[in-house]
Amino acid sequence: MAMPMPFLTTTEPIPFENERREMITVQLHRRGIHDERVLEAMFRIPRHEFVPAAFVPAAYDDRPLPLGAAETISQPYIVAAMTEAVNVQPGDHALEIGTGSGYQAAILAYLGARVYTIERNQLLAISARERLARLGFAGIEVMAGDGSMGYPVQAPYQIIMVTAAAPAVPPALLEQLADPGRMVIPVGDLYHQDLLLISKQENQVRTRALDPCQFVPLIGKGGWQDVYGQ
Ligand code: SAM
Repeated sequence: MAMPMPFLTTTEPIPFENERREMITVQLHRRGIHDERVLEAMFRIPRHEFVPAAFVPAAYDDRPLPLGAAETISQPYIVAAMTEAVNVQPGDHALEIGTGSGYQAAILAYLGARVYTIERNQLLAISARERLARLGFAGIEVMAGDGSMGYPVQAPYQIIMVTAAAPAVPPALLEQLADPGRMVIPVGDLYHQDLLLISKQENQVRTRALDPCQFVPLIGKGGWQDVYGQ
């Protein structure tokens, strides 16, 4: 499917411009990501600002990268597929479980969502909060703690995005999903999962499997016992 993607022609040079363009055209568009808003968000957001210094040269590679403490920033294709699936509309309230670097939260905010994001690892939560503030992202609240039971205080959410692997869909998250609302969540065992798109509309819940995937575990009350033994 041909698409002009005018945003790829930048008037001012930007860091890693060629790598970003290649990520958009080869890793995303050619593999079926066609929502131009998602492609533009991923072109504009500086992914190299969200990875540890040692991985900056690899920031736009076709793979997840380590964030430390056994956690990762997801592969660009998975971020794009999850973002396209939830079809963000300006003003949507979005709950993300698993802030990690803050990259996915930045993309949701760029698309106009008000984002609540929860990270279990305190140090990651602090550095994501600092990074997002430094980069000028407004409308993102980063919280530290177990997000596997959601965040009822701000519910309901038009969008719920779980970026860690769950053994099953936590019922608490389904309850906090607005009607209409869309949730993406990887569900399976600790090694292989299916990315599920769960849509709620007129009190009906529909589940569709998107891609097979491999995420780090969702650890907590609505997820797995602490597999790292911490
Ligand atoms: N979305 C992130 C990004 O854009 O960088 C990547 C997320 S990483 C694949 C998964 C994250 O989920 C890890 O940082 C991990 O600490 C976090 N996590 C695991 N269980 C959690 C829980 N119960 N509540 C909140 N965060 C959790």
